[in-house]
Amino acid sequence: LAQLFRPLDMLGMVYRTIRQGLIDMDAMFTLVDTPAEIVDAPGAPDLRVAAGHIRFEDVHFGYEPGREILKGVDLEVKPGTMTAVVGPSGAGKSTLSRLLFRFYAPTAGRITIDGQDISSVKQASLRAALGIVPQDTVLFNDTIGYNIGYGKDGATDEEVAAAARGAAIDGFIASLPNGYDSMVGERGLKLSGGEKQRVAIARTLLKDPPILILDEATSALDSRTEAAIQETLNHVARRRTTIVIAHRLSTVVEADQIVVLDQGRIAERGTHAQLLRAGGLYAEMWTRQQSEREQEGEGAVEAAE
Ligand code: ATP
Repeated sequence: LAQLFRPLDMLGMVYRTIRQGLIDMDAMFTLVDTPAEIVDAPGAPDLRVAAGHIRFEDVHFGYEPGREILKGVDLEVKPGTMTAVVGPSGAGKSTLSRLLFRFYAPTAGRITIDGQDISSVKQASLRAALGIVPQDTVLFNDTIGYNIGYGKDGATDEEVAAAARGAAIDGFIASLPNGYDSMVGERGLKLSGGEKQRVAIARTLLKDPPILILDEATSALDSRTEAAIQETLNHVARRRTTIVIAHRLSTVVEADQIVVLDQGRIAERGTHAQLLRAGGLYAEMWTRQQSEREQEGEGAVEAAE
């Protein structure tokens, strides 16, 4: 009988691997337009994640020859801490996360997780260890329960409900006439930007990866939704090694480390308070965003009057 079950077990494993691949493809398409052709080295071992210690060591990279985007990035993200990457548009922030996912390989330097060069481990094991909350979440024309459960193969209803609670979208789902069976996506209920982000957070909670990448949406959410999402994300990030690609500085104040990327180089690094004191690029960006916010606030008051 065991002989009969072993092949079935194998089939189950193959199915799960393919499904995990599909889940990661979802993340991939929001990260890059064209998947890179990177293949595993023959006999590459699985990545073994103990603490989730990430290092970028003198990483250089360009999408095309003659135009270097990252020009020697040294970055350490200690286990269980949060690093925020900020900087002007086009500085190379998202490129860092694409290299970490190994959609592309550095042209020089290396990236390690718990001491293992990510270019020498199986890609599937690397991507299984990384969770991403992307800028824009793809929803399927299916139920909201399915859309959340997609984060983990074989997730039970209880697990889906727990993830929804963790992402604080359970109240919203309870308010729908069909609850978890409500159809969403193009042909169903259209979710707001904040609700879609919560679905992505719930999926990530189900996947439960040791390393988390949050690619903050550029599109503005209203400040109450933004603050609520931030609180949820902070909860998800706890105990995990987290990298936040941040567009709004208000969301990085609490980070253990902030790095300012400028034209492919790390121009500054430190905590919010240290960087404000330093009076450099970060302080300048902070002052600019604060005054933009104040103007927006005044505009909203005027509009209400
Ligand atoms: P933003 O804050 O606007 O999202 P970013 O700092 O995340 O910007 P990246 O997306 O990392 O910037 O892009 C860095 C540079 O790489 C940009 O100049 C961009 O034009 C270029 N780039 C990004 N993706 C590709 C690609 N697939 N092929 C060629 N060049 C690319």
